[in-house]
Amino acid sequence: MDFTNSGDIEWEEAPADHFTGAVRFGPHYSPQDPDDLNVLGVHFSPGARTDWHSHPGGQVIYVTEGGGFVVKEDGERAEITAGDVVHAPPGEVHWHGARANTHMVHLSLTWRGATVWEPRKVTDEEYEG
Ligand code: MN
Repeated sequence: MDFTNSGDIEWEEAPADHFTGAVRFGPHYSPQDPDDLNVLGVHFSPGARTDWHSHPGGQVIYVTEGGGFVVKEDGERAEITAGDVVHAPPGEVHWHGARANTHMVHLSLTWRGATVWEPRKVTDEEYEG
């Protein structure tokens, strides 16, 4: 059994080519086999967000701090805050990010392989909805 306190997790800058604004990753559980469960903390600074993307096996998001949005390609927008849980089905294109005036931290639970990035950023217009 491996034991880690969340305060000891080493957070690193997320790759800038797939995000707008300052985003940090805190790996909570990184599997040897990319098909297995991956548990990643994601810290969004105010206004920061992912690019458009999907997850081959789907994604569960659990918000632990602050607040933000999850937005689907059809424009459906959910405002999320600490304690909220979101499930994105396999292949459903979406983005997530913090509100303009607060940060957001969420756990991302994914499986069955890496995020599939769409070749487009979330524009300011899309962000503002
Ligand atoms: Mn996602």
